[in-house]
Amino acid sequence: MLVKRHIQNFAYWVDIARSNEIEIEIEIEIEKEYAPLLAKGEIGFEQLLHHAADNLRGHRALSVFWQLTRRCNFSCPFCYIRDNSQRQLEATYEEIEELIDCLLEEGLAKVVLTGGECLLSEHFDHLYSRLKSEGVLVTIYTNGSLFNESRKDLFRKLPPYSVEVTLYDCDATSQPFATIEWLIEAGIPVLCKFTATKSNIDHLGAVRQWCDEHQVDLRLDGRLFNGDNGIDAQVLSLEEPTLIALEKDQMGAVSLDRSPLESHARKALGCAAAKYGAYVSPEFKLGLCCDYPLLWDMRQEGVRNALCLLHDFVDREKEASLVGCSGCEAQILCEMCAAKAESIKSNDKTMYRVPLGYCDEVRTRYLSLIG
Ligand code: SF4
Ligand code: SF4
Repeated sequence: MLVKRHIQNFAYWVDIARSNEIEIEIEIEIEKEYAPLLAKGEIGFEQLLHHAADNLRGHRALSVFWQLTRRCNFSCPFCYIRDNSQRQLEATYEEIEELIDCLLEEGLAKVVLTGGECLLSEHFDHLYSRLKSEGVLVTIYTNGSLFNESRKDLFRKLPPYSVEVTLYDCDATSQPFATIEWLIEAGIPVLCKFTATKSNIDHLGAVRQWCDEHQVDLRLDGRLFNGDNGIDAQVLSLEEPTLIALEKDQMGAVSLDRSPLESHARKALGCAAAKYGAYVSPEFKLGLCCDYPLLWDMRQEGVRNALCLLHDFVDREKEASLVGCSGCEAQILCEMCAAKAESIKSNDKTMYRVPLGYCDEVRTRYLSLIG
């Protein structure tokens, strides 16, 4: 079944009975340029969103990262988000409905549903079905343990754009592995992720082999973060040389080729989120992304007003420079931006300064990777 979506003068059709069937309809230029590549799978929907966002008059929430809950049925000792005590703060059915209505009016095109474990939310099925039937592309981040028969029926009828399953061990008889096999059989794009720590690094070889045999991509991640739930993830972190070896393996030789340096001062908010992204927290707060500390409480501000506050904020800040950065050879690894820089208020303006020591750290990592 085809559903038509609009982002201002840009329109496209989505077949909601398939994972990612998209057809561009209006905008002759973009159709000529992108339609053949899209049909061959050579570009993703993200490029189309970039194009659509270039023609917007200001920030809009076209792509939303929605953390439905902090709760999880697993208890990984390094998890920065897990907090099973927070249920009462999660969004209600009515709040979810109001937010979706407002986002659809803005042109919402893409949503990532995540957690904690997002499939634990009692509103997941409703929220997912509503987004899908409106033609929104939905990606699900999950631990893969809660795919029961009714969920499978739902995903057969309305397949997700993609599913990313994080594996924590190599037990191929466990539910997460069975979920990945089911997703492959159902023709739903799937990515396996493995968070490598001191306690599971020995399983990595077997996970790799399983992924190779099942022809499914595997993304490794070994950098752990301490969250605000009191968990000290660093005690489980691999030693730096092992992390570098993992990263080298992930990035490959080509992507480490020196990228052309940006000749101008970098913007603190030069990312896609600053053009068309938004973040919804488990406590029903709205922000730019899960790393940017400023959030608007949609219960206090009202949903529509919180969206306006986010747009105004981004439109005001998006020209701010990243003081202390003029671009360097390590920028391919650099994650510095407004969310991680030190913000300094001066005459109603905010400046963002790179924290001392950050650049040396990134350059050291870069040299280890190319060495
Ligand atoms: S962390 Fe920084 S670069 Fe990433 S989305 Fe947030 S503001 Fe943008
Ligand atoms: S490492 Fe420092 S100088 Fe290099 S790109 Fe990042 S912020 Fe800029």
